[in-house]
Amino acid sequence: MRGNPEAHELIAAPSLSEVLAKLGDAPGTWTPIAGGTELMVAHAAGRLASPKLISLWGLPELDFIRVTDESISIGGGVTFGQIRLHTIIASDFPLLSLAASWIGSIANQNRATIAGNIVNGSPAADAPPALLVYDAEIELISQRGSRRLPYANFHLGYKQSVLQPDELVLALHLPRRFAKHKQYLRKVGTRKAMAITKVALAGTATIDDGMVTQIRIAAASVADRPLRMTNTETALLGKKLSTETNQAARIALLKEVKPIDDIRSTAAYRSHVAANLLDEFLNELSREGSS
Ligand SMILES: Cc1cc2nc3c(=O)[nH]c(=O)nc-3n(C[C@H](O)[C@H](O)[C@H](O)COP(=O)(O)OP(=O)(O)OC[C@H]3O[C@@H](n4cnc5c(N)ncnc54)[C@H](O)[C@@H]3O)c2cc1C
Repeated sequence: MRGNPEAHELIAAPSLSEVLAKLGDAPGTWTPIAGGTELMVAHAAGRLASPKLISLWGLPELDFIRVTDESISIGGGVTFGQIRLHTIIASDFPLLSLAASWIGSIANQNRATIAGNIVNGSPAADAPPALLVYDAEIELISQRGSRRLPYANFHLGYKQSVLQPDELVLALHLPRRFAKHKQYLRKVGTRKAMAITKVALAGTATIDDGMVTQIRIAAASVADRPLRMTNTETALLGKKLSTETNQAARIALLKEVKPIDDIRSTAAYRSHVAANLLDEFLNELSREGSS
């Protein structure tokens, strides 16, 4: 059944502080809407429960990319189109650039915001694995003030997060220390473009004389939330890359993932593919480490 526009009220406030005041005065009453690429799909399908929507689109306080020597800060209202075209994101955070280029179509990328991708909470979303392996921090803001936490601690379960009803995602902060890391990201879907992820795996690592000196691995669609795979990382950290090390990491990954069966794939397929993507990443590391 299609949604009924008359069942919803949509307002726009001219500034972030006025949006925060609305959210703070009656927490849970207003649902923020940014690009609307999730919420309008829900509306079209008759699944949009929120009767009251408050627009974030075009708020300058959420629309910025700030670069310093140490970090890059991406406002919650920044679209994947902006991310895809940003030269320093492309040079320092190529996995985020690549993930941005995968989000739907170009038209979709011009509306879809990074905060919307995160808050929607889909375990299959494309930006989270890259954000996890770049040690991103997320900054939340409300009338009560702002708080900053590791993005890895943001999701609590399926479509559950630490975000409070009066809070917005103000920004993502990424430390600029990964440019020299070896980096990997691969998404497996039904087709090359406009496909929801069956499994994706991201990784960053440094290798010294064949030994893994730093490693970060994260995946999409293998758990109830975007997953940083710390046990798999532990199986690799400080180890020489070898067939035995790769096998131990594969076993750790298979214990760590908890995928589900759904219309797009089976849990068994997802586990198997995630382990194969890890193999591919480790083989790339071995090859590059020895060149
Ligand atoms: C055709 C199509 C293809 C797509 N393909 C992909 C794909 O390949 N990969 C992928 O990952 N996604 C895909 N998506 C999903 C979607 O485009 C993204 O998740 C997008 O980033 C959502 O952002 P938005 O601004 O449109 O969110 P909205 O729909 O505006 O909001 C989504 C959720 O985020 C909340 N929200 C938004 N901004 C904030 C904020 N600043 N603070 C707090 N809460 C906020 C809203 O309240 C809502 O709960 C696709 C969607 C469509 C329609």
